[in-house]
Amino acid sequence: MSHVFPRHTKAQLPTAVAGDGCYLIDADGKRYFDGSGGAAVSCLGHSDADVIKAVQDQVGKLAFAHTSFLTSDPAEELADLLIANAPGDLDRVYFVSGGSEATESAIKLARQYYLEKGETERRHVIARRQSYHGNTLGALAAGGNEWRRTQFAPLLIDISHIAPCYEYAERPEDETPYDYGQRVANELEAEILRLGPETVMAFMAEPVVGATSGAVPPVEGYFKRVREICDQYGVLLILDEVMCGMGRTGHLFACDADDVAPDILCIAKGLGAGYQPIGAMLCSKQIYQAIEAGSGFFQHGHTYIGHPVATAAALAVVRGMLDRGLVKRSGEMGEKLQAALVERFGQHPHVGDIRGRGLFRGIELVADRETKTPFASSLGLAKKVKKAAFEAGLICYPMSGTRDGVNGDHILLAPPFIITDEQITEVVDKLELAIGKSLPS
Ligand code: PMP
Repeated sequence: MSHVFPRHTKAQLPTAVAGDGCYLIDADGKRYFDGSGGAAVSCLGHSDADVIKAVQDQVGKLAFAHTSFLTSDPAEELADLLIANAPGDLDRVYFVSGGSEATESAIKLARQYYLEKGETERRHVIARRQSYHGNTLGALAAGGNEWRRTQFAPLLIDISHIAPCYEYAERPEDETPYDYGQRVANELEAEILRLGPETVMAFMAEPVVGATSGAVPPVEGYFKRVREICDQYGVLLILDEVMCGMGRTGHLFACDADDVAPDILCIAKGLGAGYQPIGAMLCSKQIYQAIEAGSGFFQHGHTYIGHPVATAAALAVVRGMLDRGLVKRSGEMGEKLQAALVERFGQHPHVGDIRGRGLFRGIELVADRETKTPFASSLGLAKKVKKAAFEAGLICYPMSGTRDGVNGDHILLAPPFIITDEQITEVVDKLELAIGKSLPS
């Protein structure tokens, strides 16, 4: 009997024993194509020799040094590399151990920034209905997904949620994509005015929405308008690129495609690529200088921040991505994946939308293509697709729909950047089989 506490207590999970490129292998020798990189984590596949060596070398040299006392070479080098490639005036990197710690840290940094500046009234965060920012209490409060929040609602800080930018599901036919984007961005301004501009400290959003809706990119001009509004009211823009960052969309940082730079940028998942748990929060010079000139101390920390082995792994991951052209490859293979999905499912009566950027793709399943009506959530369609795909040897990331904050069933694909043309065909073949098996007859 297992003593591991799994998330799904009734699930009987096979045991993973090895990784080989894009595949995971279980104890019976069955191979699974990792079509979602776990949850957009394994961007370099499961057996990257350079990253493995970097981890082995670092653990042999220096396993741990607490950052209250010492810094380390890999942490310094990784921070330099990230900042050299980061948008805007992002200038400092605060390392953490995962995505929730990154978004949680961002909320606390925003608050401390305004305290240092004497704007003590600023305490409100605004986020979006269709979003996920992590599972710790602050991060969970920021996320707008009702299903994840409901049972913990009494414990959550008060964060208001405005409309997402979800063109497929929410743009009326008689509105242009641009106008739609401007209109939903302007909800931010309305909410800032409702709360009182002097009380709002930050707006948090995912550039390309991941877990709650399946790789939904913004329409053109949306984030530019958001940035304008934030600047006008002195509200910090926090972009959560925990899932969509680190090359996943064909850009090292997803916001590069929107030509918008945040004040705080959160990354995780692809940063450690699964070789080590690591996340990071990048902040602007202005924020860092306010802390430096003020108390000189960020009142927030974790034991494992800047962990030498985790940062050594991430350094090898980011170097690998940049030196081997894998970010570009993510963009190119992503276009091929999109084309293959459109070719196979473009006319499918129950596929409403195929979307995304780079190797971050989503397929939305609908009962009726014309009306975009989702399937009844009682069908548990996404769960069925997940199971059928897994049986066929494909790991993908479906989410079930019609719960508040999740518009229908979608399947998220986020394969490793080393995926080949043949493997794209393998993914699409297996997905077709899984969808076929799962749809109601
Ligand atoms: N933000 C986003 C956008 C995410 O997708 C996730 C994880 N799915 C998180 C935050 C939380 O990251 P973690 O699970 O590493 O805490």
